[in-house]
Amino acid sequence: MNDILLLKQGEIVLKGLNRRVFEDKLVSNVRRRMAHIGKFKIYAAQSTVYVEPLEESADMDAAFEAARQIFGFVAVVRAAACEKTPEAIFETARRYLAGDFARAKSFKVESKRSDKAYPMTSIQVSQTVGGLLSDAFPEVAVDVHDPELTVNIEIRETAAYVHSVPALGAGGMPVGSCGSAVSMLSGGIDSPVSTWMTAKRGVHIIPVHFFSFPYTSELAKQKVIDLAKILAPWCGRMKLEIVPFTHIQEEIRDKCPEEYFTVIMRRFMTRICERIALRDNCGAIVTGESLGQVASQTMQAMAVTQEPVRIPVLRPLVCMDKREIIEIARKIGTFETSILPYEDCCTVFTPRHPRTKPRLEEVREAESPLDVDGLVEEALAHIESVIISK
Ligand code: ATP
Ligand code: MG
Repeated sequence: MNDILLLKQGEIVLKGLNRRVFEDKLVSNVRRRMAHIGKFKIYAAQSTVYVEPLEESADMDAAFEAARQIFGFVAVVRAAACEKTPEAIFETARRYLAGDFARAKSFKVESKRSDKAYPMTSIQVSQTVGGLLSDAFPEVAVDVHDPELTVNIEIRETAAYVHSVPALGAGGMPVGSCGSAVSMLSGGIDSPVSTWMTAKRGVHIIPVHFFSFPYTSELAKQKVIDLAKILAPWCGRMKLEIVPFTHIQEEIRDKCPEEYFTVIMRRFMTRICERIALRDNCGAIVTGESLGQVASQTMQAMAVTQEPVRIPVLRPLVCMDKREIIEIARKIGTFETSILPYEDCCTVFTPRHPRTKPRLEEVREAESPLDVDGLVEEALAHIESVIISK
């Protein structure tokens, strides 16, 4: 008998008339994610997306793990399908959950019935199947209040499903259902987390990395590609834009006062990101900035950094502590790669005494020797795109 996956939809069940649009997106994301694992029938019904294998060889472990990285589901359940008779349900539970019964000291059965024409009530199903299971596993006590094992039975239109504890889903909204954004991805700990958090809210991501060869090495670039690959199972297929930044940084070093290096550099990043965003139909720029973390992340510095653009700058980490950010980085698997010791372009030519409260007029004056438009165009003309797919 083949397992199936039941993916329980999250927030989108609260959507009104446009719920179908979100659901279609969710189903197409699941199809894309499962395509390289095997052949599955994938469809939505009753606030659930079903993933049914179409071949015996389908790797259900891989499908289960993949499903847990798809935004839009609150729970991921692996279940066995069977006929809708209490006997068939009992037989399935006995075989399918034998391991769980061997470990548990107590159990209960919980039934749900979305097939309202079914001849038994949920309580009757629980009692009948519970009685049979109790006979089959006499050493496991029935405990309806605080059982170690809950046997879940769902009776739906086409079949009954037996499963034990649901695993937590990734939460959030289907990627692509809330537009697109450019996300500034450095090799650090923060920006993979801000990228992940934005994708979680249903945003398709275009990661952008600024690369200052030879001040930063090929290894630093590879690290960012690796981070994007770790993010791809969550974010979906992405086009990583690698922007050459060396000339801009050298111009700043040669022509601007040192105390403004960082903030001027960051204004260039913002301008270039806006251009990419407008080109690719993105609604925002995302950064991994967190209030007060470094000199360029004060409110005043943020204001000056975003001043050259009109597009919103989203900062999902703005009020998070480093400790909280690291917790997420570990959970999503980016932390170990982020801490590899390669330089980021932000650490090249860092001023000894950066201005923490830069004033806009002073910064404009400081950047006035530069051919801003020319430098932006030059960088845009030499972008290297890397397709990151799962
Ligand atoms: P991170 O851990 O993400 O590198 P950070 O605390 O080191 O963050 P900064 O280096 O000041 O902070 O950068 C702040 C934000 O600017 C980053 O989170 C990222 O969004 C963006 N950023 C910095 N450097 C780059 C880069 N080389 N390419 C793309 N974005 C960058
Ligand atoms: Mg950084």
